[in-house]
Amino acid sequence: MSELHPDTIAVHAGREGLDELGVHALPIDLSSTNPLPDIERGGDSYEALTGGRRPPEAGSNVYGRLWNPTVARFEDALAALEGADEAVAFASGMAAMTAALLALCAATGKRHVVGVRPLYGGTDALLAGDLLGIERTFCAVDAVAPAIRDDTGLVVMETPANPTLDLVDIAAVVAQAGDVPVLVDNTFATPVLQNPLAHGARLALHSATKYIGGHGDVIAGAIACDADTAIALRRVRTATGSVLHPLAGYLLHRGLTTLPVRMRAQQQNAQRIAAALRQHPAVARVYYPDADTTGILGTQLRGPGAMVSIALRGGFDAAERFTSALRIFTHAVSLGGVDSLVQHPAAISHRHVAPEARPGADVVRLSIGLEDADDLVADLAAALG
Ligand SMILES: *Cc1c(COP(=O)(O)O)cnc(C)c1O
Repeated sequence: MSELHPDTIAVHAGREGLDELGVHALPIDLSSTNPLPDIERGGDSYEALTGGRRPPEAGSNVYGRLWNPTVARFEDALAALEGADEAVAFASGMAAMTAALLALCAATGKRHVVGVRPLYGGTDALLAGDLLGIERTFCAVDAVAPAIRDDTGLVVMETPANPTLDLVDIAAVVAQAGDVPVLVDNTFATPVLQNPLAHGARLALHSATKYIGGHGDVIAGAIACDADTAIALRRVRTATGSVLHPLAGYLLHRGLTTLPVRMRAQQQNAQRIAAALRQHPAVARVYYPDADTTGILGTQLRGPGAMVSIALRGGFDAAERFTSALRIFTHAVSLGGVDSLVQHPAAISHRHVAPEARPGADVVRLSIGLEDADDLVADLAAALG
C-alpha cells in the first residue's frame, strides 16, 4: 500500500481478503465470543491476545474484549495512512490517551509525564489530576529538555493545538526529549495533513470522534505507532477493557475513505472564512495557521486545516451573543464533522485547565464544515453584526 498515494490508501486500505469472502462492503463482526478450535489452540490464542499480540494463524479471536476483526481492519487502514507499523483503536480519544499513559508510564515504573502546553482540555485535566498515579510537569515548547527527568516515560504534545492553533515543531520536541518517547495528538491535522511519526514521534494519537468519524455519530480514539508500542497498548486495552465497538470501527473505516476529500474541502472553506473574519471590525484576532512564518506549514503540516478560532473585541459578552446568534453553526463542543460548530473553550472544553493556561474569555472556536462557504460567511457576519 505504501507506494500508493494517500487518497488511494484511504479508499483501499484494510480491505484484504474481501474477494475470498465474496463481499464488497466491509464485513461487521459483532461476536462477543468466538469458537475455540480446541483447548490447546484456544489457550495459545488467549495467551497471544492477552499479551497484546495478534491472534495466531488458525487460532481464535477468543473474546470481543481481546480482538475484533472489524476494528482491526480500521486499525490497519489508519496505520497505512499514518505510515505506521500498526494502530490501536480505543473507545474514545481519552481512553487512548489513558492507555498511552498506563503503557508508557505507569506500567514501566516511569511515573512522570511532560505535557507541552497548550493541550486539549481533557488531556490537560487528565495529566494534572491524580487518577493514574502519575506525576506531571507542564512546560512550554522551548522548555521540554529541562522538564525531562530520569523517570519521565512520555512527552505529550499537540499540533495544531486546541484551541489557539499554535504550531509546534515535532522534531524540535523529539530532539529535546532525547530517549523519551513523544506522543503527538494529531486530531486537528489528521493523517491527511500531518504524519507525526515521520518527524520522530513514537505515537500519533487521534480523537477519531472528530475528523476520522467526520459525521458526529461516533466516539472513538486511536494511536498509530511501532509494533512494540502497539503490543504494550493492546495489553492495556485488553486488561482495562477500553475497546472500540465493532459498529464504530466500521463507521470509522468508512469515514477514512472520504477523509482526504472532506479535509481538503473543509480546509478550503476555513481559508475563506479566516480571510473574511480578518476583515471584520468586531474580530480582534484570528487564530488560523495559514500565514505561519515558522516554516512548519508546508513541511511538517501540509495545510492549515479547518479549525479557526477568533478573539472578539467585545470579550465574553460578545462571545455569548455571537454563539447564540449563529444559525447555520451549531453551538456545541466537538469538531471535525461535516457540519459547522461553534463553542467557547474557556467556559466549556477548557474549563478544567488551570487559569494561567486557559484560553481567554474573548475566544470562540469554530469547526468549519462542508456547507457552502458563502452561507457560512454570511451567518458569521450576521451574528457578529
Ligand atoms: C476531542 C479531543 C480529544 C478527546 O477525544 P474524545 O474522543 O472526546 O475522548 C483529544 N484531543 C483532542 C485534540 C480533541 O479534540
